Amino acid sequence: MSNGELEQLRNKANDLNLQILKLINERGRIVQEIGKTKDAQGVHRYDPVRERTMLDNIIKNNDGPFETSTLQHIFKEIFKASLELQEDDHRKALLVSRKKKPENTVVEVNGERIGDGDQSFIVGPCAVESYEQVAAVAQAAKNQGVKILRGGAFKPRTSPYDFQGLGLEGLKILSKVAKEYDLAVISEIVNPADIETAIDYVDIIQIGARNMQNFELLKAAGAVNKPVLLKRGLAATIQEFINAAEYIISQGNDNIILCERGIRTYETATRNTLDISAVPILKQETHLPVFVDVTHSTGRKDLLLPTAKAALAIGADGVMAEVHPDPAVALSDSAQQMNIPEFDQWINALKPLAAVKS
Ligand code: PEP
Ligand code: MN
Repeated sequence: MSNGELEQLRNKANDLNLQILKLINERGRIVQEIGKTKDAQGVHRYDPVRERTMLDNIIKNNDGPFETSTLQHIFKEIFKASLELQEDDHRKALLVSRKKKPENTVVEVNGERIGDGDQSFIVGPCAVESYEQVAAVAQAAKNQGVKILRGGAFKPRTSPYDFQGLGLEGLKILSKVAKEYDLAVISEIVNPADIETAIDYVDIIQIGARNMQNFELLKAAGAVNKPVLLKRGLAATIQEFINAAEYIISQGNDNIILCERGIRTYETATRNTLDISAVPILKQETHLPVFVDVTHSTGRKDLLLPTAKAALAIGADGVMAEVHPDPAVALSDSAQQMNIPEFDQWINALKPLAAVKS
């Protein structure tokens, strides 16, 4: 074969490439049209019976030189790519992702704009035990300019024999204290059926680590117009955490705060291992504010200050910690809660480090 002939054949192959390209894209456009029609009719996009018919038709008409199995493989790839074309963009980029929304989400609660660059605090007892107990912490929080008070009413305890919280009574105490001290309150809800009731009493719904993949709870919290603080699961990857937040936002509620609270590792020196690098990763990957719970991650009072410093330094939007007027008699997490003088010391050491626009 002369060089000229080779050149001619190569040119032909190039032309055919362009024709195939044109045909594949033409097919893609038709498939997109089919997708729209299927959507309008509410029909599933993936249709294995139809794929089988198309493949059979290709096999029947194949007169080589390609093997049938090779062609089947090539066409299967074309079918797969076409199906992906039919899927909306939002299937690929999550609603919580920065790809979808480059600017920060700001969650407004009681004059606090969480996620706007300022760093804030959420403090309060592990569990609501009495009006007096919550009011004492509320006073201490208010004295320090903290705007959001925490307190568990429904406690997801490891043992069913441990204090389970005061339930609705606890929410009522929180709500009363919130009004009296002009604070916002956050409390954990564990049952999807309690969400509707809770929104009358709390300013932020907390979804706890043990419920991070309670999808019915996530959907229920996503269906109401109330900020949600979602904690990372005990053994959840960052990707699973992000997908859990997606469950909430997919129902329409985009007022979500993520909270890193430590994960379970082989390390026993701390209650959990605070995954501090999760903070910048979550800030990069999502547009949501990110908090760090220093109490449940460390389970150690002596680590509350250095971990909170780390959280502020690494760019968290705020820090959560437990404070109890008399931790020794607390009905849950007694060893890790700060008393009020300890809290004052802690927050006074952190305030100069926290970003606050004046
Ligand atoms: C809590 O904050 O009260 C709590 C139980 O934390 P976690 O869900 O992170 O264990
Ligand atoms: Mn606790």
